[in-house]
Amino acid sequence: MRKKIVAGNWKMNLTLPEGRTLVDGILSGLPTLNESRQVVIAPPYTHLTQTGEQLDEYEHIYLGAQNCASETSGAYTGEVSAAMLQSAGVQYVIIGHSERREYFNEDDALLARKVEQALATDMQVIFCCGESLEIRDANAQNEYVEKQLKSALFHLGDLLMKRIVIAYEPIWAIGTGRTASTAQAQDMHEHIRRVVANQYTPLLADEMTILYGGSCKPSNAAELFACPDVDGGLIGGASLKAEDFLGIVNAMMGL
Ligand code: PEP
Repeated sequence: MRKKIVAGNWKMNLTLPEGRTLVDGILSGLPTLNESRQVVIAPPYTHLTQTGEQLDEYEHIYLGAQNCASETSGAYTGEVSAAMLQSAGVQYVIIGHSERREYFNEDDALLARKVEQALATDMQVIFCCGESLEIRDANAQNEYVEKQLKSALFHLGDLLMKRIVIAYEPIWAIGTGRTASTAQAQDMHEHIRRVVANQYTPLLADEMTILYGGSCKPSNAAELFACPDVDGGLIGGASLKAEDFLGIVNAMMGL
C-alpha cells in the first residue's frame, strides 16, 4: 500500500516554547489520520523529546529528525547518531536536504553512509533529491536526479529500499515562493518511480511514497497532490504555522 505523507521540516526555526505552541495548534486541528494518510513533524534536535511527548497519544503522526550522523558513535563533537535519535523516539530521518548538501558539503558518498546508519535502526528515511535552476534550464534534471538516487540509495537491497520515502525538491522552488508546475512535479515523480522500478521491481516502485517539496502551501497543495505520482509533501516555510500546515494536511486527506 502506498502511503500519503505530509512532513513538516522546521529547519532552524522556533524556540522550545514556540515549538510547543505550534504542535499544540497542529494537534488541536488535526483530522483523523490512518495507515495510508500520515503526518511527520521534524523539529530541531533540541525539540525532539518535547515534541515526541506531545505526539505520544496521537496515531499516525510521527516524529522526524532533520539529519543524522554518518558514523555510529565516538569522537564526533556536535553530531547526533541514528541510535540516539531512535532512542529519543524518532521514526523518520530527513537525509540529503539540499541545504545540507550545499551549506554542509554533504555529497552522495556521505549521504549513502547516513542512509545506512538510519536504516540500521528501525527508522525510515525521507531522502531528498532535486536539481538546481541551472540544471533545469539545461533540461538535464532527469539524469541529475537519477544519479543522486543511484549514488546514495541503489546499493540498498529491496528490504531496506522499502523503508525509503523520496522527496523531490527542486532547489529553485525551495523557500522561493516559486512552485514547480503540476506537470513538472508529475513528470519528475513519474521518472523517479520508473528509475526505481528498473532498479528494483515495479511493485516496490508502485508502493514507494514520493513527496514533493518546494513552496508547497494550502493554496497549491491539493493541485500538486492530485498528480498520480505525487504522494504528499515535504513542507518547509508553511510547516511553521499551524493553520497553513493543517491546510496542507487537509489537502492530503482529500486525495
Ligand atoms: C524544504 O526545505 O524542504 C522546503 C520544501 O521548503 P519550503 O516549503 O519553504 O519551500
